[in-house]
Amino acid sequence: KNEKAMVRYDYSDRVVIVTGGGSGIGLGICQAFAESNATVICVDIDQPDSTELPDQVVFYHCDVSDQEQCSSTVRKVIDRFGRIDALINNAGIQPADSYHPIDELPENVFDRMVGINFRGYHLMARNVIPQMKQQQRGVICNIASGQAHRTARHVGVYGPIKAANIMQAKQWAVEYARMGIRVVSVSPGAIDTPMVRASLEAQGGGEALANRHPVGRIGRVDEVANAVMWLCSDSASFVTGADLEVDGGLGAFG
Ligand code: NAD
Repeated sequence: KNEKAMVRYDYSDRVVIVTGGGSGIGLGICQAFAESNATVICVDIDQPDSTELPDQVVFYHCDVSDQEQCSSTVRKVIDRFGRIDALINNAGIQPADSYHPIDELPENVFDRMVGINFRGYHLMARNVIPQMKQQQRGVICNIASGQAHRTARHVGVYGPIKAANIMQAKQWAVEYARMGIRVVSVSPGAIDTPMVRASLEAQGGGEALANRHPVGRIGRVDEVANAVMWLCSDSASFVTGADLEVDGGLGAFG
């Protein structure tokens, strides 16, 4: 019942960029696209362990909060592969030192989170969109969060930025709908990744977190990847501007 299930998509000849693809959800997304024969470009600030990333995944070092690096990375992808079919904006941080009420949150932590989680999504999108417009085809998928939809203690920066990731998707969806570009977002519940393991250490209590999800457990990265695979495929051709909660019922629970 709790096993990896996968619909097969054919992403042959498709070029997909996954930011933060070196770990957690991003790594799961890289693996899923690679299994579906896509050309996958993993963009990350940290080179992942070479045993984790499938052989056919191409790694580019890039700090998504930096315009110059985003622009040159996208240029390299276009020069080498000639097209960009999908961008998965996923690189994000929720550092342990961000769990404070906002009046106690250090400004440098605020700036880092805005820089990566918000500006990073914007910069990668603005750099791939000209190519997608030229192709008259493309999908951008922003990984948001359940915390975009409801509050929790001491996530006063992370939550609002994640809500902004959903609105970025809606805004871009409307802006580029006539140009063959679809933009969507996915709001995962708690997923078993290094980020969540770190935040559990900061907050304590894995069982309580699992129980908050009506299904009684946290999710797996492949369960998020499956949603992304569908949303980026032609099977979702009439879906744009939508946010999909992939959260074991957390959102329904309130
Ligand atoms: P993770 O920490 O496992 O992976 C994040 C990756 O992003 C890492 O490989 C890291 O090196 C990379 N990264 C960080 N800063 C970067 C930068 N400046 N430029 C390029 N890459 C950078 O995290 P995760 O849990 O897989 O989270 C991925 C995304 O999913 C984030 O946007 C997060 O907010 C979102 N999310 C996660 C959960 C969850 O439960 N894990 C739930 C909801 C949403």
